[in-house]
Amino acid sequence: MTVPKEAIQGLATAVRGTVTGPGDAGYDEARAVYNGMIDRRPALVVRCADVADVIAAVRFARANGLAVAVRGGGHNGAGLGTCDDGLVIDLGALRGVRVDPAERTVTVEGGATLGDLDHATHAFGLAVPGGIISTTGVGGLTLGGGIGHLTRGYGLTIDNLIGADVVLADGSFVRADATHDEDLFWALRGGGGNFGVVTSFTFRAQPVSTVVAGPILWQLDDAPEVMRFYREFIGGAPRELGGFFAFLTVPPGPPFPEELHLKKMCGIVWTYNGSPEGAERALKPVRDFKAAALDGVMPLPFPAWNGAFDALYPRGQQQYWRADFVNELSDDAIAVHVEHAAKLPTWQSTMHLYPIDGAASDPGKTDTPWAYRDARWAEVIFAVDPDPGNAELIRRWTVDYWDASHPFSAGGAYVNFMMDEGQDRVRATYRDNYGRLAAIKRTYDPDNFFHVNQNIQPAQESGRQAA
Ligand SMILES: Cc1cc2nc3c(=O)[nH]c(=O)nc-3n(C[C@H](O)[C@H](O)[C@H](O)COP(=O)(O)OP(=O)(O)OC[C@H]3O[C@@H](n4cnc5c(N)ncnc54)[C@H](O)[C@@H]3O)c2cc1C
Repeated sequence: MTVPKEAIQGLATAVRGTVTGPGDAGYDEARAVYNGMIDRRPALVVRCADVADVIAAVRFARANGLAVAVRGGGHNGAGLGTCDDGLVIDLGALRGVRVDPAERTVTVEGGATLGDLDHATHAFGLAVPGGIISTTGVGGLTLGGGIGHLTRGYGLTIDNLIGADVVLADGSFVRADATHDEDLFWALRGGGGNFGVVTSFTFRAQPVSTVVAGPILWQLDDAPEVMRFYREFIGGAPRELGGFFAFLTVPPGPPFPEELHLKKMCGIVWTYNGSPEGAERALKPVRDFKAAALDGVMPLPFPAWNGAFDALYPRGQQQYWRADFVNELSDDAIAVHVEHAAKLPTWQSTMHLYPIDGAASDPGKTDTPWAYRDARWAEVIFAVDPDPGNAELIRRWTVDYWDASHPFSAGGAYVNFMMDEGQDRVRATYRDNYGRLAAIKRTYDPDNFFHVNQNIQPAQESGRQAA
């Protein structure tokens, strides 16, 4: 759809942020997202300066029949922060964070990164559990769930969400929390970007300051033994201890010892939220189990730890994703993992198993849309390379690995680790919660105006969803 020039000029005058379209200076930068495999050409990118700009952008898109993509941090693997021919609402300039240390809450604007949030809360000895890379957007990560270093102790990011400001599909504005628009508040805790543009999130912050963290790595040949140890150990470990399993290639630079550079290995990446003595005790069974090739666990300020992997995954590289939830790690499943780990196609490619236990398993399956509270792990296969010429290589490895390991999975996947995989995968992910999400979608977004996301289609009538 072609939007008249005068209308675009009117929008540019009405907003305090910028409006960029094809042919404008900075268009290629404005349309780019984190995953270099995504190459979409929106009609307009509105980089919003405030909530009023968001409202203006929603109304403009609606009036001109434009599809809308909402961009928080722009990290989404499937490229859901952009679209072809539509209007991108880019929240990247809305990064303010305000901590209330007395109440132990923090309010974050919708385009902030995890690094912005960590930086602000750390000054008060607080943190909100998020992900493992600090350049990730708080927006998309939170709306999909939020798994990271502190999940075993403090739950998913959504378990710490206590309110959100939302611009709805008709351009109106609401505050959703436990006593206002409660259904919407429920849906926002895992239902993705389906329900509106969240201009700010309010979280309960948790006491976190210096953590004792780092990887412990073993040889790839030891992987079956390490995985069997890990499956038995992690569920019973103290909640202060987070630890995700990884297949990886040792990065070719410091702080890793030269003799390990570019070696394929397996490991567990630990985070202990407590004293060095407590960490020593919690990790003793790990260290007793088997001598490691590298033990990189050390005290670190939480923001430094949360940013420790940022440089390994810079913006603009090719990325391909596949994911599953996993209930058990049988010996047969382990054999499949080991076979594919031996073929990691590039040094940045990896497979992680994030535990969904401890505090993440406290809420019931219907307390939030996040239906896999009973899974043991969220598995992600993530292939990365800077060279577009390797796009097919990394896609093929990821898909082959997933095809082989999926039969051992629990069915659905964590929405934030998926590519654009269609409705069946979205439904598998939300399980019995899909119907309630679809009904809430009908109330708040009956025309599916917000559809550039892991889409929940509005229910057609009570209890029925669109096919
Ligand atoms: C290197 C890397 C590491 C990662 N590590 C983790 C991890 O440790 N844990 C984890 O849970 N996930 C992780 N992820 C996945 C991450 O959660 C998703 O990519 C998520 O979608 C990123 O959010 P974003 O705001 O950056 O993305 P965007 O691409 O901006 O948005 C993603 C989706 O969320 C919607 N959205 C974003 N912000 C808003 C908002 N304010 N209001 C309404 N809708 C919004 C968008 O419309 C889109 O549908 C990682 C991703 C990458 C690339």
